[in-house]
Amino acid sequence: MTLFDSPAFEGHEGVHAFSDEKTGLRCIIAVHSTARGPAAGGCRMWPYASAEAALEDALKLSRAMSYKNAMADLDLGGGKSVIIGDSRTQKTPALFEAFGRAVQDVGGKYWTAEDVGVSPADLLHARKNTYYVAGLEGRRESSGDPSPVTAEGVFRGVRLCVERALKTDLKGVRVAIQGVGHVGGYLAQKLHAAGAKLTLTDVNAEALARVAAATDAEIVAPSNIFDVDCDVFAPCALGGAISLDTLPRIRARVIAGAANNQLADAEAGRELFDRGLLYAPDYVINGGGIINVAGEIRALERDEAFDPAWVDEKLDRLTATLDEVLDLAARQRRPTHEVANEIARDRIRGAAQKKAAA
Ligand code: NAD
Repeated sequence: MTLFDSPAFEGHEGVHAFSDEKTGLRCIIAVHSTARGPAAGGCRMWPYASAEAALEDALKLSRAMSYKNAMADLDLGGGKSVIIGDSRTQKTPALFEAFGRAVQDVGGKYWTAEDVGVSPADLLHARKNTYYVAGLEGRRESSGDPSPVTAEGVFRGVRLCVERALKTDLKGVRVAIQGVGHVGGYLAQKLHAAGAKLTLTDVNAEALARVAAATDAEIVAPSNIFDVDCDVFAPCALGGAISLDTLPRIRARVIAGAANNQLADAEAGRELFDRGLLYAPDYVINGGGIINVAGEIRALERDEAFDPAWVDEKLDRLTATLDEVLDLAARQRRPTHEVANEIARDRIRGAAQKKAAA
């Protein structure tokens, strides 16, 4: 199979591969769509087993960013970059300087930011060679850590789903959270403050104990989180939590959390629907972080300071969009993620047509 026949490539405007012998950089920048604006999506550094695996990941992630940015109603397209390497042992300033040159070579069609394995300090080195970097600290345009904003979006989404599925507010509702890291930790605090009862798990025992103590929560072992008797299951760890294996164990009526790629596969999405569970599509409910980054890009492009009020307004709009997705899915009796995909594709297609006609 060639790149052009690969299902993951479908719909992409371009894929750029860079190597730099001096620094050892090998990176791929995938630009799925610039129909709504320049493509935006973080940079991931990961020890991929092969260049093919890195390419596949970059393509999947960049398309997901197009959908996420469209659903968050941002004037941004979707893109993503991956650096092949181990972030614990292979990071150097020169590597990220070379990455900055690669981003600059894409000519403003792609804005980068942090993702797994990449920190604001790394991006500072990239910034020496390109303007198109968001997620830096200490500038008047800086948006800061996106996690609290992501958590606020997820919190509003959980509240909405509970209102719709259980016809109640959050008081006394039990939420099981898988993963209490950056986003899950903030989410736990917000839910606790709203009167929800929490059951938490994490593979990091120290973080788990800290968050549980602050939120009066019960703790379970990571392997038992799917069996908790709860109203809401909130996946906030890694992707693939919802599968044909885990679904029969999940007792919640609502699945709503921060993790990317929660559905292990399309069958899991169908099965979830057939079981009558309400699922908040991951890339809709967790769009708060990219909204925050978009606020920084907006400030840079306008030469203004970062505006938290703009971010909050977009976050309100995001919750309204989630409501629209859930409404349409209920009326059409279809899985929520299929409806969300359709709306995202329509928004991207509409923007492309408008651009072509201009
Ligand atoms: P994080 O690394 O800070 O937190 C993830 C937590 O999950 C960690 O505490 C980790 O120990 C725990 N974990 C990992 N595997 C686990 C397992 N099997 N069982 C239980 N716990 C496990 O990451 P984060 O920034 O909080 O992001 C969480 C999820 O949300 C990720 O999927 C991320 O892609 C997604 N997301 C994050 C943001 C953001 O703003 N940070 C935005 C959108 C989406």
